[in-house]
Amino acid sequence: MKKNFAIIGLGRFGGSICRTLIEAGQDVLVIDSSEDRVNEFMNIATHAVVANAQDESVLRSLGIRNFDHVVVAIGEDIQASILATLMIKEMGVPFVTAKAQNEYHGQVLEKVGADHVVHPERDMGIRIGHHLVSKNVVDYLELSDKYSLVELKVTNSKFYNKSLADLDFRAKFGLTVIGMRRGQEMIISPTADEKIQENDTLMLVGAVDDLDRLEAKMP
Ligand code: ATP
Repeated sequence: MKKNFAIIGLGRFGGSICRTLIEAGQDVLVIDSSEDRVNEFMNIATHAVVANAQDESVLRSLGIRNFDHVVVAIGEDIQASILATLMIKEMGVPFVTAKAQNEYHGQVLEKVGADHVVHPERDMGIRIGHHLVSKNVVDYLELSDKYSLVELKVTNSKFYNKSLADLDFRAKFGLTVIGMRRGQEMIISPTADEKIQENDTLMLVGAVDDLDRLEAKMP
């Protein structure tokens, strides 16, 4: 279903969200106080406007309240990001995603009503950190404080040629295999008789401690 999106701030974060939404066929209004940034997106976004998002009358005249989803992607100017988020929520926008620079900024954004606060640098740091600690962790995504999703390369020969039923990750580790990657092939929701081959990558969901126990078994 087509939705109306507005993005405030066209840095690398806001800019890449804009490109992705446009590629997905959505309507996107972009707003930035920098004329250069707006010019760059003139032929990409549905509408591109030079404006200061701290100015309530400007947000009203752009009809921000009629948008389904607004992304506040202002980075360094924390005050502008908080004020814009507050005003946009007060205008009645149903869903606001806001980018936080740090934990305190994130907490304030939640307090002023942001529906989803994202910490792109922190989260990317966590993902890369896990990959650096264990080279078999291809990707790592925190789902909550306790649960994560991990892409783990199987490098322990004890697992090779055994089916998921034989290995029974759920009983032995408390983990659920939601997918497997074999070279270019992607197997979503593998069946219990799927046998693991050398260098397969498993996509697993579970508690962080349980994921750590399985990671430790991959040399
Ligand atoms: P990124 O990491 O996404 O590249 P950043 O965290 O470095 O970005 P900034 O470059 O500080 O963030 O801000 C992103 C964009 O937001 C910039 O293009 C900036 O011009 C714009 N911006 C900052 N303040 C405002 C404002 N009050 N109104 C509209 N746009 C703003």
